[in-house]
Amino acid sequence: MIRFANVSKAYLGGKPALQGLSFHLPAGGMTYLTGHSGAGKSTLLKLIMGMERANGGQIWFNGHEITRLSRYELPFLRRQIGMVHQDYRLLSDRSVVDNVALPLIIAGFHPKDAHKYALASLDRVGLRERANHLPAHLSGGEQQRVDIARAVVHKPQLLLADEPTGNLDEKLSLDILGLFEEFNRMGMTVLIATHDLNLIQHKPKPCLVLEQGHLR
Ligand code: ADP
Ligand code: ADP
Repeated sequence: MIRFANVSKAYLGGKPALQGLSFHLPAGGMTYLTGHSGAGKSTLLKLIMGMERANGGQIWFNGHEITRLSRYELPFLRRQIGMVHQDYRLLSDRSVVDNVALPLIIAGFHPKDAHKYALASLDRVGLRERANHLPAHLSGGEQQRVDIARAVVHKPQLLLADEPTGNLDEKLSLDILGLFEEFNRMGMTVLIATHDLNLIQHKPKPCLVLEQGHLR
């Protein structure tokens, strides 16, 4: 599904964040991306989303070279991808279901359909009964589930997560990893960036290990 060939990225005025990365993520897999803070994990995810541009090399998504996409073509790429954040990034003045429906509204769905799919998505993360609450009324673990429901509401082929358990204790973190496993069993390809090696020992999966911008 994803192929990197000799990909490099340096931010303006900075040292290289990623250097000479080559790897393949098969469709239907679940993979962890690990490495210390600053190793380049977020940068790698942003390259896949087209939120940052590589300085060298090629990236393919389902056979399309995304390193050559114009910015007008990026929305088509992003529609295939869901993204989960460490800090949830929910809108505090909208209900849970409205937060989850938002990507569909932006994509032009009828509000009624968007609402229906958002409820279905909340159901999958076990939060349908919280649909009409405001995010602030939910616990941290629940807010992370809302973020996940929003990330999968458009049924993406690829689910990316950047330190999705960074703000949660171990039990809640394992629950969240279990949720990713469920989406993976349903056919989604999953890539989870985490520095928490202790956590992923509980649920072993293939690993990409970054060290200062290089793959080990
Ligand atoms: P990780 O997610 O593993 O913590 P990042 O991808 O965030 O690593 O960072 C990799 C390197 O790139 C670090 O040295 C970081 O300081 C640098 N970096 C990340 N984002 C930016 C940016 N927007 N501008 C400049 N440097 C950045
Ligand atoms: P059913 O519950 O009868 O399976 P759904 O309401 O789930 O029907 O789906 C009806 C149609 O809408 C299908 O084509 C399905 O692929 C599509 N669909 C369902 N959920 C979503 C979603 N979250 N985003 C986009 N399309 C969706």
